[in-house]
Amino acid sequence: MQSTGHPDINTAGDVEFVGTAMDITERRHAEEALRRAQAELARVWRLSTMGELAGSIIHEINQPLAAIVTNAEASLRWLDRDVPELDEAREAIADLVRAGRRAADVIKGLNALARKSGFDLARIDINDAILEVLAVLRSELERGGIALSVELFTGDRPVLADRIQVQQVLLNLIRNGIEAMSTVTDRARNLRISSESTESGEALVAIEDSGIGLDTAAADRVFDPLFTTKPEGMGMGLSICRSIVDAHRGRLWASPCLPHGTVFRFTVPFADAQQ
Ligand code: ADP
Repeated sequence: MQSTGHPDINTAGDVEFVGTAMDITERRHAEEALRRAQAELARVWRLSTMGELAGSIIHEINQPLAAIVTNAEASLRWLDRDVPELDEAREAIADLVRAGRRAADVIKGLNALARKSGFDLARIDINDAILEVLAVLRSELERGGIALSVELFTGDRPVLADRIQVQQVLLNLIRNGIEAMSTVTDRARNLRISSESTESGEALVAIEDSGIGLDTAAADRVFDPLFTTKPEGMGMGLSICRSIVDAHRGRLWASPCLPHGTVFRFTVPFADAQQ
């Protein structure tokens, strides 16, 4: 029940109480249902992102695997000669090691992304988190004919954040950028990712695309749950991103990027700036 009331003096000079009592059971149930729906959507969104990721991961891992096999075969051939060609074999084995490391890096990135969700605050290097996401998205960027530029602040200054959740935000913002450029044919498709440290003790990350841009009417609504302009869109990405950033006591906002495109920026407080 929710009741409100106030005392009043009537014309005869007596004190009367005027008030209402409201049954808010329905409202509470609706709020609870909404919270459950949001949690469920977050889970579905996560799973579908993982599904899409699997495609690019297979591509990422196949390349180094092929290089490993080719180089291993080549080394065997060099060693099997009557007079083994040790230098050539050594070079092929060095290539093999590099390819192995590349595959391991991809798997490491995937592993980090696939770990169970939940809020797990830790001191993390935001630039590392960005680079890991970019490694996972590399083939998607290549397929989209997108020129990527990355400019990250230097220095070792960790933020206090849930690595997986921050990476979900990055994935979603970068994917949106890629999609916003998919129909652009008359200019370069550029994606710029930058990070800087602000005077107020936060890391500021910007994802800038040269895509179709946001008109002012849409700019107000893109963070609303279920707002989408895509035929297959769920319209939950940005609203989840905003809840994640809010939960980190950061901010997420969008602005036009001149002459074309959009820039999404978000902040996460540095660990040393937290009280
Ligand atoms: P979805 O991608 O499923 O539509 P989002 O919440 O991630 O859901 O995005 C909501 C809408 O915001 C998109 O449908 C699109 O209209 C707009 N939007 C998001 N990112 C960009 C961007 N980088 N450039 C232009 N429009 C964007």
